[in-house]
Amino acid sequence: MDRKGKLSLNRSLRGKILLLTVLPLVFLAALLGLVSTRSFTRAMLDEVKAGMANQCHMIADIYDRMYPGSFDLEVLDETNYNLYKGQVDITNARQIIDSIHDSYGVEVSIFRRDLCVVTTLKDATGDPLTLTKASPVVVSEVLETGKEQFYSDVLLDQEKYFAYFMPIPGKDGEEPFGMYAIYRLASDVRALALRSVLPVILLCLLATIVIGLISISYSQKIVGYLQQIQRFMHALSGGRFDVALSPQVLALQDELGDLAQSGQSMQRSLRLLVEYDALTGLYNRRLGDRKLRRVAKHAQEQGTDYCVGICDIDFFKKINDTYGHEAGDVVLKAVARILKRHMAGKQMTVARWGGEEFLLIFENYELADAHLILQKIHSQIYETVISYHEQEIRVTMSMGLVQADPHASEDAMLKEADTLLYFCKENGRNQIQVRNMSN
Ligand code: GH3
Ligand code: MG
Ligand code: MG
Repeated sequence: MDRKGKLSLNRSLRGKILLLTVLPLVFLAALLGLVSTRSFTRAMLDEVKAGMANQCHMIADIYDRMYPGSFDLEVLDETNYNLYKGQVDITNARQIIDSIHDSYGVEVSIFRRDLCVVTTLKDATGDPLTLTKASPVVVSEVLETGKEQFYSDVLLDQEKYFAYFMPIPGKDGEEPFGMYAIYRLASDVRALALRSVLPVILLCLLATIVIGLISISYSQKIVGYLQQIQRFMHALSGGRFDVALSPQVLALQDELGDLAQSGQSMQRSLRLLVEYDALTGLYNRRLGDRKLRRVAKHAQEQGTDYCVGICDIDFFKKINDTYGHEAGDVVLKAVARILKRHMAGKQMTVARWGGEEFLLIFENYELADAHLILQKIHSQIYETVISYHEQEIRVTMSMGLVQADPHASEDAMLKEADTLLYFCKENGRNQIQVRNMSN
C-alpha cells in the first residue's frame, strides 16, 4: 500500500504539474518563437526589398549621370546587338553593374523589353547569361504597368532568387525600353534571416528551459514534501509513532506546513490515546509489552543484562470496597506518581500492566541495583499516606523481580516475575521477592 500510494502520488502529481506548468510554457515558447521568427523574417524581407529597390535606383542614377539620354538597342543579328545609352555604346561597358555586384553581392541585369541584354549572372561555363527571357508575369506586372515589383521566388539557372524589377522609361514617353533587375540568392537571404532570428529563438529556448527547470525543481520539492507527509501518515495509520517530519516541512509557512503541523499534533494525540494509560499517565500494557520485547531482543543480541519486575497493590479490592471506586483511582494515581518518580531514568520503564498491577523494566541493570530501586519504591509506598475526602489510606505492594536470562524469552521472564509475585501474595504480601535467572 505504501508503495502503491507513493506511485500514484508520483504519477498524478508529477504528471499534473508537468501538464499544468511545463506544457503551457513550452507551448508559449513555441508560439513566441514562431511569431517572432515570422515577424523578424518579414522585417528582414522588407529590408531586403528596400535594399534591392535602392540598388536598382542607384544603378539607374549612375547610368543616367554617366550616360545622359535614353537606352537604345541596335540588333545586328540573332545573337549580336549593340546597347546604347545616350548615343554611347555601352555593350561592353560593364563597370557599373560589376561594381554593384561586387559591392552588394547582388546580380544585376538590364532588359530590353523581356530580353536580358546585360547581366552579371553567369552560366556554368562562366559566360554571361544574356539573351534569357523574363517571365510573362514580370512582363505583365512591370513592363505593361510601368511599376516596380519585388519577387521572392524567381528561378534562374536552377537557383532561387529574390528579384527586384524596375522599368526603364522609353524615349519621349514611349512604352518602357526595358527593365533594370537586381537579384539576390534566396538561400543567402534566408541564411541572413536565420542568423538574425537565431538569437531570438535561442533566447526563447533558454527562457523556457530556465523557467521549466525552476518550476520542475519547485514542484519536485512540493512533491517531496507531500511524499514525506504521506509516509508519515501511512506510518501513523499503521500504528507506528516513531516517525518524524523533517524541520523543513514543519517550517513551511503554507498549506503544506499547516498539514504537517496538523499531522504532528495528530501523532501526539494518537500516541497519548494508544500508548498511555489515561488514569495514571503511565505507559499502557501495549507499550510496556513492546518495550520489554525491544529490551529483551537487544539483550539477546548484545548479551547485556536486564531486570523485569511485576508489582501489585495488596488488597486493592478492599480499598474500592471500603472507600469507593473513585478512592481506588486516587490510590492508583498516587502509586503511579511514586513509581514514575523512581523510574525516571533513561533505562527504566514503568507501565500499567493491569488493574493495580505494574510492569517495571530495568535495561542494562543487574539484580542488586534494580532491587535497590524496588526497595525504595516499596518503602515509599508503605510510608505514603493517601488522603481522600479527609480519610487517610495506606497501601502496601508485593513485588516480584528477576534478573533476566538474556538467552531466554521475555515471556519466560514475565512468568517468573509473576511466580515470585504470587509467592509474595501467598506469604504475607508487602514484600519483594527476587531471583537471578541469568546464572
Ligand atoms: P491481592 O492482594 O491478592 O492483589 O488482592 P487485590 O484485591 O488487590 O486483587 P484483586 O484482583 O482481587 O482485585 C483487584 C481490584 O482492582 C479489582 C478491580 O475492581 C480493581 N480495579 C481494577 N482496575 C481498577 C481501576 O482502574 N480503578 C479502580 N478503582 N479499581 C480497579
Ligand atoms: Mg492486588
Ligand atoms: Mg492484581
